[in-house]
Amino acid sequence: MFGNLKDKLTKTRETFKEKFEEFLRSEKSREEILEELAESLVLADVGIQSTEKIIQSIRQKSKKNDSFIVLKKILEDEICKILSQFPTYFNLNNNHTVIMMVGVNGGGKTTSIAKLAIRYKKEGKSVLMVAADTFRAAAQEQLELWGKKLNIPVIKGQYGADPASVVYDAIQSFKARQSQLLLVDTAGRIHTNTNLMNELEKIKRVISKEIEGAPHETLLVLDASIGQNALTQAKEFLKFSSLTGIFLSKLDGTAKGGSVISIVDELKLPIKFIGIGEEEKDILHFSPQEFARALLS
Ligand code: GDP
Repeated sequence: MFGNLKDKLTKTRETFKEKFEEFLRSEKSREEILEELAESLVLADVGIQSTEKIIQSIRQKSKKNDSFIVLKKILEDEICKILSQFPTYFNLNNNHTVIMMVGVNGGGKTTSIAKLAIRYKKEGKSVLMVAADTFRAAAQEQLELWGKKLNIPVIKGQYGADPASVVYDAIQSFKARQSQLLLVDTAGRIHTNTNLMNELEKIKRVISKEIEGAPHETLLVLDASIGQNALTQAKEFLKFSSLTGIFLSKLDGTAKGGSVISIVDELKLPIKFIGIGEEEKDILHFSPQEFARALLS
């Protein structure tokens, strides 16, 4: 798993590689190293605020004549510390678990739902998916296609129907089938933002009324390939009250993998899963330790 993650983070890692080799060869002072390290972190989209915090911490925890190897280990620990601030545990212990997925269209929501669906189906859970974006026929069709491919049932509503009523119907079916995991795909048209947030709140109310303690998780799907812009998008969704974590999609092939750090640091939410490709198998449970190691190794 570590090898796979390391491989997918190649582009981001390359941002550090040149500098790291230079540090190892040369006799730079701690301040020179920290200055150039800060530059590399910003280039990898770690964000100014988080970069400053990391560099400040390294300065406090290191001695003036510490070697690059020592500084790098402190850097890895600092990144790991930031990423571990919030538990990455995924709440799936209930027999009737409902997971709501939210996020901007095109961010990878439907694909990420399919990835979760097959992951838990393989673990022996009976899974049901509901396409609650009733205003985008393509979104519903796409989830249906995934359902066919993975052999997982999909509930969808009429075009233009109230998404909350589609979810209500799906919950009745979920109960009748005695399924164990319901994954709810939602709309992501950010330009009608207030309406969207109201719609999401309404869906959430329906879910919690029908199943106690649900939704057990509400994941915001963010696209890692847009780096710091993902933070701006995410801030809109913070208005929606019940987010429990992030599914960070498209971490493969991006040089902006450093954004993971500021996403956790600034949004104050854990990353629970990462998407590392377009296929259903391309999903990893997020491990702060492994991520920090893969980023810098
Ligand atoms: P939605 O509109 O938010 O439901 O987004 P989709 O699930 O339709 O995904 C949009 C595009 O991103 C599609 O082309 C997906 O194949 C692609 N995609 C989703 N997740 C990943 C990922 O982890 N890695 C890569 N490389 N592409 C992804």
